[in-house]
Amino acid sequence: LANKKFHPEPSIIKAGNTEIGPNNLTIMAGPCAVESEAQLMKIAYAVKAAGANILRGGAYKPRTSPYAFQGLEEEGLRYMLNAKAETGLTTICEVTSLDAINAAVKYVDMIQIGARNMQNFYLLKEAGKSGLPVLLKRGFAATIDEWLNAAEYIIAEGNPNVVLCERGIRTFETATRNTLDLSAVPVMKEKTHLPIIVDPSHATGVRAYVAPLAKAAVAAGADGLMIEVHDNPAKALSDGPQSLTFEQFDTLTKELRPYAQLS
Ligand code: PEP
Ligand code: MN
Repeated sequence: LANKKFHPEPSIIKAGNTEIGPNNLTIMAGPCAVESEAQLMKIAYAVKAAGANILRGGAYKPRTSPYAFQGLEEEGLRYMLNAKAETGLTTICEVTSLDAINAAVKYVDMIQIGARNMQNFYLLKEAGKSGLPVLLKRGFAATIDEWLNAAEYIIAEGNPNVVLCERGIRTFETATRNTLDLSAVPVMKEKTHLPIIVDPSHATGVRAYVAPLAKAAVAAGADGLMIEVHDNPAKALSDGPQSLTFEQFDTLTKELRPYAQLS
């Protein structure tokens, strides 16, 4: 179902009032984690002003350490709904369980399956049944073929609205958090009709490398970007070192405009 052979035209996936596909560059931006309503509103207005179409914000955080901030859960989703009502932005939130999916359908426009859950086949099937469009991140040790099979799990449940997200894979290199596999973009363009976006924030883990790789992703043909943005990265409860400031994000979208159709 994901195979381009049986569906040669690129798919355009609708999420809220945003269309993700080859005609325009979709920019998903926002904090790694929703920390408070005030924080989320401030960031939502800033990323919207810079040209983002989708507000990201994690309410269920799959943290490496069990002692790290785990997210505001349903309360965070309520703030996402309020931010959408205030700004008109489409919203996306990661889900890590069936409970999270059942809550997300009430509050957000699109759900995200994170790298750590890319082969959680039970969760993929439940995401397929949710009726919401799904952003499927690449597992950090997953091959292209395994990633496509994960997409197939979602589509096989009757939900064709899947967008792929390359977010870096694990290699021997330690200078960056992961290694961004930009070849995934043209490879996926050849293999599937599904849109593919790139997340240079989780791929690099380093703020200074986010903008150059965002531009490289657009040059490689990505249909969109996911960028972490925070009003005060030094105080962020998660992923501060890779989060762009408002000013840096604004500069990035300005620099992308000559190369891509932005909202
Ligand atoms: C995220 O987008 O907040 C996230 C946890 O990303 P990944 O699943 O790619 O690590
Ligand atoms: Mn993050």
